[in-house]
Amino acid sequence: MPEKARILYIEDDPGSQTLVQRTLSFAGFDVVVASRGIEGLDMAIKNLPDLILMDINLPDLSGREVTTKLRSDDRFRATPIVALTALSQAGEREKAIAAGATGYLTKPIDIDKLPGQVERYLSGARDTVDTELMMQAHTAYNQEIVGRLEAKIRELESNNAELRRLDKIKDDFIQLTAHELRTPLTLVYGYSRLLQDSPVVRQMKEGGPEVEAFIKGLIDSIERMSVVINEILTVSRIATGRIELAIGPANLADTIKHIVDEFAEVTQKRNLLISYNPSQWPTVIHGDTDLLKLAIQNVIGNGIKYTPDGGVLNVIAKTGVTNVLITVQDTGIGINKEDQVRIFDRFYTAGDTQLHSTSKTAFRGGGLGLGLAICRGIIEAHGGRIWVESAGRDEEHLPGSSFYIDLPLQARITSPRRIAPNGSSN
Ligand code: ADP
Repeated sequence: MPEKARILYIEDDPGSQTLVQRTLSFAGFDVVVASRGIEGLDMAIKNLPDLILMDINLPDLSGREVTTKLRSDDRFRATPIVALTALSQAGEREKAIAAGATGYLTKPIDIDKLPGQVERYLSGARDTVDTELMMQAHTAYNQEIVGRLEAKIRELESNNAELRRLDKIKDDFIQLTAHELRTPLTLVYGYSRLLQDSPVVRQMKEGGPEVEAFIKGLIDSIERMSVVINEILTVSRIATGRIELAIGPANLADTIKHIVDEFAEVTQKRNLLISYNPSQWPTVIHGDTDLLKLAIQNVIGNGIKYTPDGGVLNVIAKTGVTNVLITVQDTGIGINKEDQVRIFDRFYTAGDTQLHSTSKTAFRGGGLGLGLAICRGIIEAHGGRIWVESAGRDEEHLPGSSFYIDLPLQARITSPRRIAPNGSSN
């Protein structure tokens, strides 16, 4: 038995779909159906049909546009594409042929004749139209496509403007909320300090050790909250191009010593080694000391967070003529390739957030996913670059990650930078 010819029917009306599918299947054809133009293109590539029946009025791309697109693909150059056109609309047949259709059938479809008509096109029949009308149809079709393109671009531009507006509202909201939270938190912090030093509390402390522990817990929690709030404020400033660098002489050798000292308690507790050689680090560069410290601290802090106890962090600086390349290599869980660009986006965290603890230094102690967005903002504002390399994430074999910061010795501030929602900057 010869193989059944495969027909792709592109039609959005369910009634016509059922009718044509039944009729043609009954007549011995293999029929697949698509309801939209784009879906039709995908199904054509997947099924490589022997003939395509194309409704002209589809909800997304028109049947003519689908036909033109198919004709640009070698696999469909010779495939019969039969347009289904309404008789009432003048010039429709010509436009279908102008778009690349082999022939046309008028709607409503005569189901008794349909199998024979399909056979005819499968055997090589082609419909012709009057040349003069065809020329006019070409022009009309081109104008139609340009008109649709223009309307689409206008729609996209207006959607884009709306998205930017919403994004700004979101940025402003985040920034205002963080500000509003910071003000009372500063007061709470001040009062808790006063409480700690007040004679009454001192007396209470003598009465029992728990009072000391309560106050320490209170102050630690407030400090953690203010770190988070400051992170949000910094990142929203960076994101909206409001980061201001206080450029001056910066001593990175001192900076790295301070950072390592500040992590001493945790590295000791978690048996981690931070290996570095202060003499490799430049003593005079031009940059914002505090922000550069924040960036390097974040990257080393991440190395600590994502390396299990007993691991090693190698922090290396290679100073060139115009730049210093800082590398932070850890022996931690590593980062999957697909996450390696996105982790520099705001609010992006890789891995299972359920496993995160809220600590800044515990293993897998995750934050809001702002640390690296801040680093990137700071480094790029100096005219530098930050990126990561890792063989992938593997919590058993610990492939580790290497973060690189390429920093000019003289900060190259070009124009104010704004970080787009996807993290890229311009
Ligand atoms: P967070 O404050 O959540 O740590 P970051 O922006 O600093 O946010 O980091 C984003 C994500 O990148 C983290 O959630 C983590 O999954 C991943 N990441 C960052 N540094 C490392 C590292 N050294 N090793 C493994 N994963 C890391």
